[in-house]
Amino acid sequence: MFAIRPTSYGGRGCFATSEIPRGTLVHIATTPFTSVIFRDFRKEVCAYCFAYDLGRTWKVRLRGPETAGLWFCGEECRDRWVKEEDPSRELVPVLELIEQAVALARRKSQNSKVGEYDEDFVHEDFSFQSDAIDSLWKHIDGIVISASQLANPLRNPTLNNRVLALEDIEYDSARLVAVAIVRLYLDSHNTSVVPWFTWNGFCSLESHETDLINRLPALLESHIRVFIFLRAIMPNKFQPFVTTANVRAVLGREAANAFGIWQLPLSSESECLGSSIFPSGSYFNHSCDPNVMKTRIGRQMHFTTSRAVREDEELCISYGMMLTMPLQARQDLLQEQWYFGCRCGRCIAELGSEA
Ligand SMILES: [Zn+2]
Ligand SMILES: [Zn+2]
Repeated sequence: MFAIRPTSYGGRGCFATSEIPRGTLVHIATTPFTSVIFRDFRKEVCAYCFAYDLGRTWKVRLRGPETAGLWFCGEECRDRWVKEEDPSRELVPVLELIEQAVALARRKSQNSKVGEYDEDFVHEDFSFQSDAIDSLWKHIDGIVISASQLANPLRNPTLNNRVLALEDIEYDSARLVAVAIVRLYLDSHNTSVVPWFTWNGFCSLESHETDLINRLPALLESHIRVFIFLRAIMPNKFQPFVTTANVRAVLGREAANAFGIWQLPLSSESECLGSSIFPSGSYFNHSCDPNVMKTRIGRQMHFTTSRAVREDEELCISYGMMLTMPLQARQDLLQEQWYFGCRCGRCIAELGSEA
């Protein structure tokens, strides 16, 4: 129905290979490569179907002692998550470690024991070498305009509770990265994975790390903290994959490629409950006059034509709720959140009529 081809304005896009009638389901992105329910909402959003019931806490947890920071709206969702998302049973222990390390470090920090670190959670081979930090910083230095932009650099690289007691946003990022790293580990042991589920499929997306760090320099510190945290706690077999390159690959691709998990039914009042990355869905470019509508159905993303599409026409979605905004507001939002100046047909027409 459509093919992925280079566009005339750069990057790739989806182009209709035949006429497509209005209301045609052109693509289903079945499950995210990685996703996270934001910490504030994790008890209220089903980890499988992303159901949210106005703040009601879901009651169903995983069977067994490891709850892994996951809540489910029912047993069916719980069982499907286990079967589809973690058939190898590699993911739950990692998520559980993150959960426990953060919870314990936060408790200890509150008891003002900062300085003592949680040896129970620190991998025995972990050591923090100053030249490693230097080279990490040097490496990262190259992507920011100037080091003076760093709002709050990690000045004291001592492993302690402050390292493990992640802020909420870092906890969310750590979970997002951990899921991707477990997938990468499984990829390296198993060749029969779904293409869109592979690390390579994921890495075919564009990274916006530089854009993101330049917009929000303080995130650089957060990203480094996430890396150090995962290095400190991830079990041995995952360690070869916990590299700065891989952590940066995930966090750089989350920027501008993530689909927000929005409260349904969607309205201007909807809360953003989490973040998900669907590599196959990321090939749909943005237009302020889109011909494809994206709809979340449970944990799937459905892409349906909102009008008839001609052969060779590009299939475009709207990245956010901006279609009723005036030209400049749309341009500003797209630049700020997705790092591009929109040159869609509608924007060009409106720019022309303004001139
Ligand atoms: Zn559910
Ligand atoms: Zn536009």
